[in-house]
Amino acid sequence: MAIIESSDHPQRVRILGVPVDCVSMDEALSIMEGFVKEGSPHLVITADSSGIVQAQTDPELADLYEKGHLVTADSSGVVWAINRRRKCLQERVSGVEIVDRVCALSADRGYSIYFLGAAPGVAEQAAEQLRLKHPGCNIVGARHGFFPSDSDPVVAEEVSKFKPDFLFVALGIPRQERFIASTMDVIQAKVAIGVGGSFDVHSGKTKRAPKLFQRLRLEWLWRLLLNPTKIAKVKLLPRFMLMVLGEKR
Ligand code: UDP
Repeated sequence: MAIIESSDHPQRVRILGVPVDCVSMDEALSIMEGFVKEGSPHLVITADSSGIVQAQTDPELADLYEKGHLVTADSSGVVWAINRRRKCLQERVSGVEIVDRVCALSADRGYSIYFLGAAPGVAEQAAEQLRLKHPGCNIVGARHGFFPSDSDPVVAEEVSKFKPDFLFVALGIPRQERFIASTMDVIQAKVAIGVGGSFDVHSGKTKRAPKLFQRLRLEWLWRLLLNPTKIAKVKLLPRFMLMVLGEKR
């Protein structure tokens, strides 16, 4: 596998043993542009509280976090946990926002982007909305994410034809990270990022929380109100907070 072990990351903080990089959105974008210049495949992970809790009992997922060339703080819970340890982060660096900002960069600099994941039609719709928002944004392909895991190699071959600079994979945690790690040698995207439910948001399928909920850091509550099946995931948040509070600073 072409993933190199991440070692000297001065900005790296460990939350419950999981590495997360204390970087702002602008810094994350500039690191990713550096990855594109390097040219080899890179794995970027957007870490939220549920993923960090899952990694406690899923050694394969824990290993993937270690292999992430960049691990950003996707949720307010993770920002809180980082700042408890080292006051260094002002903002979340979420998958939803990364998708938007990379599309803006693409419109400016021509980076090619592939959208993989979400229900049939959603990735295409998200691509359409983002092309409207950022005219010239170079989205070269989109494909839905409802395929069995044993078709991963076939899907990887399909995506590899586009040789994208950026590959956004929206299959949910931990499937998207597993997909990226097992196919990155074939696909050769310079930056591959797991972006969870981002296409649902950008396509308009899921509405983003109103500004008030965002300001109060209650986006999780908004998502729960819209989709009560998310309760299993939301229940991990208090568990995450208790585990972090029990951890030595
Ligand atoms: N999804 C998919 N294939 C699957 C299961 C899920 O493409 O087999 C998509 C789903 O439609 C959604 C995304 O993966 O767009 C996961 O979103 P969620 O908000 O659950 O992500 P997470 O909370 O894991 O970040």
